[in-house]
Amino acid sequence: MITLKSRREIDRMRRAGLLVTEAHRLVESMIQPGITTGELDQAVEDLFLKHHAKPLFKGFPGPVPFPAVCCISVNEEVVHGIPGDRVLAEGDIVSVDTGCKLSGWCGDSAWSYPVGQVDEQKQKLLEVGEASLLLAIDAISECKRWSEVATRLADYISKNGFSSVEDFVGHGIGQEMHEDPQVPHYVDKETVEKDFDLRPGLVIAIEPMVNAGTKEVGITEDHWTVLTLDGKPSVHFEHTIAITANGPEILTPRASELAKRGIQGEFQDKP
Ligand code: MG
Ligand code: MG
Repeated sequence: MITLKSRREIDRMRRAGLLVTEAHRLVESMIQPGITTGELDQAVEDLFLKHHAKPLFKGFPGPVPFPAVCCISVNEEVVHGIPGDRVLAEGDIVSVDTGCKLSGWCGDSAWSYPVGQVDEQKQKLLEVGEASLLLAIDAISECKRWSEVATRLADYISKNGFSSVEDFVGHGIGQEMHEDPQVPHYVDKETVEKDFDLRPGLVIAIEPMVNAGTKEVGITEDHWTVLTLDGKPSVHFEHTIAITANGPEILTPRASELAKRGIQGEFQDKP
C-alpha cells in the first residue's frame, strides 16, 4: 500500500535527506587513489553516529546481514558492494550508496564518483548515469504515471549505448527505507501492471543502475556484491524525491546544488 506523506512529514524527511547529502559531501572529499573503501564507510558511520542517526544499511537482512553503513561498489560492481580493505586506484569509478533514519524518517541516496582521471567510457557512463536520474526527476512534472517516466529513462540510457539494470528497482520511502511502490527503471508487462500515479505526497527513491555493457548481473559469493556479468563497468545514481504541489523536490540534493542555492556548510543538529 502506498502511503502519501504530509507536508510536515516531507519536512522531516528533508532533514534525514540532508544528513545523507552531508555523507556524500564527506566521501566525495575523501575519494582519491590510495584510500580504502573501508575508510570511506567508517567516515560515514562516524557522521551518522555524531548526529544520532540510525544507519539503514548495517545489519540489513540477507543471507548474511549487511555488515556496513555504505554499499561501496567499484568498476564492474553494480550495487551492494561491501566496504573493506580494497584500495581505490587512479581510473576506478566508485559508487557509494547510503541511508539513515533521523527522528524516525529515512533518506537514501547513491552517487558514482571518478577516482582521479578515468577513461572515456567510464566518463561517459558517469555522465549518462547522472543525466538519466536528473531526466527522470524532471519528467515527473510532465507525466501522470511512473511508467511514462521509466520509458523516458530507459530510452535515454539505451540511446546512449548503455543498459538499465532490471534486477533491482527503486522504492517508496518514509518511516521505512523500503515502502511501496516498487520503482523500476525499465518498462515491461509486469511493471505496467504495477504502475502508479505521480501525485503530491508520494516520496520515492529513484536509483537507475546503468551498465556500460549488457543489463545482465550476478551476485558474488559474499552474498551481496552485484557484478556485471560481462565485466564492464556500471554506475548508480539515486535521490530521494518528494512530489509536491510545486513538482518534484530532491530531498537528498548534492552539496554542489545546495551551494548554488546559497546553502553551505555542515549539517546542523538544530533545524
Ligand atoms: Mg540507496
Ligand atoms: Mg534505495
